[in-house]
Formats: sequence, structure tokens, C-alpha cells
Amino acid sequence: IEDIATRHLVQPWPTSGSIGAEARGLIQSGEGIYVTDHTGRRLIDGPAGMWCVNVGHRRPELAQVLYDQAMDLSYNSPWYTTNAPSAVLAERLAGHAPEGMNHVFYTTGGSSAVETALRFMQFYNNVRGRPEKKLIVSREGAYHGSTYLSASLNGRPRDHDWMDSASQLVLKLSSPNPFRRPSGVSVEAFCDGLVEEFRTLIATTGAERIGAFVAEPIQASGGVIVPPGDYLKRMRALCTEHDILYISDEVVTAFGRLGQVFASDDVFGIKPDMITFAKGVTSGYFPLGGVMIASRLFSDLRQSNHSDAMFAHGLTYSSHPIGCAVALKNLDILEDGLLEQARTISGHFQSRLKALEALPLVGEVRGLGLMACIECVADRVSNNPLTLDLEVGKRIDKHCQEMGLLVRPLINMCVMSPPLTISENQIDEMADILDRSIRLTQD
Ligand code: PMP
Repeated sequence: IEDIATRHLVQPWPTSGSIGAEARGLIQSGEGIYVTDHTGRRLIDGPAGMWCVNVGHRRPELAQVLYDQAMDLSYNSPWYTTNAPSAVLAERLAGHAPEGMNHVFYTTGGSSAVETALRFMQFYNNVRGRPEKKLIVSREGAYHGSTYLSASLNGRPRDHDWMDSASQLVLKLSSPNPFRRPSGVSVEAFCDGLVEEFRTLIATTGAERIGAFVAEPIQASGGVIVPPGDYLKRMRALCTEHDILYISDEVVTAFGRLGQVFASDDVFGIKPDMITFAKGVTSGYFPLGGVMIASRLFSDLRQSNHSDAMFAHGLTYSSHPIGCAVALKNLDILEDGLLEQARTISGHFQSRLKALEALPLVGEVRGLGLMACIECVADRVSNNPLTLDLEVGKRIDKHCQEMGLLVRPLINMCVMSPPLTISENQIDEMADILDRSIRLTQD
């Protein structure tokens, strides 16, 4: 299988740099927080796949729902018909979303959710007679997807600087990363500066041209950037003031990663206009995503002169009955004690990982809930990663794998986001392996 994968699959990305080189590993089975590779080696799934296997691997009740729903109804067109699981799920999701956010548009994953939210923004502004209000503000350090427009929002230039991208539609602000704030600047002053940067951008561009601000509550793939103080609330307030739709990208942070179904309001106290979700909604058992949309936007549309305008947007697999049925059972599991367990265990997770800051190679360990990032630096005085061996993440990863732990390496960082079912002992095992791997890397 490894040979075939190497010859035919574009992904997994090669470890050696050239396209077509060897794949990183062949995972054959999973159970709880563990996966097993083709050699029979068992590894802790430190990143929960890709931030998604929230309820853990090999859940018989989810497997059963997949089977039962496929036997009942495996597909119906979302254009002209509907199905019960998608309607019931919509109601359950609305119950967890911020008040007044009662509408859902289902997609096939996170990128299509972001894309849908942005197309809806343009549709909303067109119908209201503001077709020029279409620019999108995102931030350095962001990750929003791999489709044309969603990739153009990403903070990493390598995601889009080689494309004739949609970047003429995108304006970028700084990442709210307190660890990388200029020296001598307090966190409060740094936060003020970030808000001021947005205010200036609105003033120089013109609010009549800006349609949306898109932000992950915590920048996940950018290195688990937890924003400072009341940054998100102040960005929300600026959006409200200038009629800019606030799109909260919760593809990673929703479904228990931060101990709540949605984190925007329940963790950060903000009410976005749209929330995008995917990944944890089915814990990876079926590809599904979606956008929660504030019902106020539909009232605005009804009051316009073109209230009969149609949002001509549809995906064949929107509202997929199997995906929605699995999502319902996944939500049952989360509501039935797992959200609470995640909130309880996250203190131990954060404190065990925080202790790694004692190692000289580690510049900062940061995180919230069950997501964390270990950032390595060349020296702790300048916190400079640039003079560091940039293979450091890969080297830690290699040692970790040898000791039975999968991590997600990002150049000079390692990101951890285990299944929410992880126990205290398993967190200790994970932290011990990380400790030993970092020591081996720095020696
Ligand atoms: N938004 C965020 C915050 C993400 O982390 C990701 C995927 N890592 C996406 C969107 C894109 O989701 P997908 O890969 O399911 O298209």
C-alpha cells in the first residue's frame, strides 16, 4: 500500500520536499485516543487526526448510525427536498448557537463553509443595494481553507502567492499574537494597536467597500494564537459600527475543543453574524460542515426591494442525511458529559504542557481548552525563531513517533489537540513523551 500511495497520491505531502516522495505513515486502525500503523505500532493521536476526532476513534454508536442511515436513506437532493436528520440537527445546533442565530446552511467541510459564508455576504449586500461592499478582512496567521477564495484569506503567503488569487478582494490585518508583540510593548497596548489597525483600515478603505471580517476565535493552524484581552469583542464592535459582517470561523474551536459546542459567545462573549463549522461536527466520521447564519440577516433581506432574490448556491452533498445523522449522535455524546469532561480535564492538559516551558528550547507554551502549541526559539532572550534550525518541529515529531505519540509539527512549533476523551494518565504519558523528545532535540 505504501508503494501505491507514493506513486499515485498527491497527499500526504512528502517529507523530503519533492513532490512524489515517500508518505509519512500508513494508519490502519484507531481506538479511543490511539491509532495503529501498518507495522502494528500504537500511537497516541495527539492532533485528533486534524483537530477533528473529538469523541475518539472506533465509536460503535457512530458506526451504527452510519449503517442505519445508509439503509434508511443514503441521499436526497438538498435543492428540492429535505430529510429529517438535517432538520433536527439544525434545531439542535441553533439551540447551542448565540441567540438569534437560527439558520444553517450545510456544506461538505470547512473550506466550503467559509466559501458559503462569503458568497452569502456578497448576496446579502447585493440584495440590499450595496454591491461594492464585498472586500474581506482577514489576518496574518489565519487558516481558512484550500479553495480559491478561502485560501486567499490564509495568513501564510505560500498558500496563495503562486496563484492568480482572489487577493484583490482580501485585506490583511496583523495576527493577534501577544508572544510576537514588539519588545517593550505591553499586552494592553498591543491589543489597542490591533484594534486601531482595523479602525484605520476601515477609514482608509471605506466601510462601504468592506463586507466581512473573518476570524478564527483562536488561530489554530497559525500556532494556537489565543487573542489578548477583549480583542475579539472590540473587533466585533467595530464590525457592528460599520455594518461589516463578522464571520467567526469555528471549524476547529467548535464541538468541544474549548468545552462548548460553539465558543464564540460561550467562551469569548461575542455574537457573530455567521459561524462556520466542520471537523468536530461529525468527529471525522463523515465529511460535513456548515454555516450558522444570524436570522436578522434574513429579516434584512425580506425588507429589501428584492426580497424574492434567491441565494443561488448549492452543493450536491449539502444536508447529507448520513452526515447529519452522524452529527446528531456525535452531539448526543458531547452533551452527555463529554463537554463537561473536556472542560474539567483541560486544566491538567494545559498545566502539564505549560511545564515544558522549563526546557531551554521552548519559548512559549500557549493554549486554551484542549488545544495547545509548543513554540521553540533559538534563544529565550530574543525569542527569535529565525536563527533556529527550522527542522526542529520535524525532529521533535520524529522522536515523539518513536515513543508512540503523533504530533502536528509546524516548522518551529508542535500543535496538540487530542480527542476530548483523553484521561489524566494519558495526558501525563503524552507530556512525558513530549518532554523527552524536546530534550533529545535540543541536545
Ligand atoms: N477553517 C479553519 C479554521 C481550519 O482549521 C480549516 C482546516 N484545517 C478550514 C477552515 C478548512 O476546512 P476543510 O479542510 O474541512 O476544508
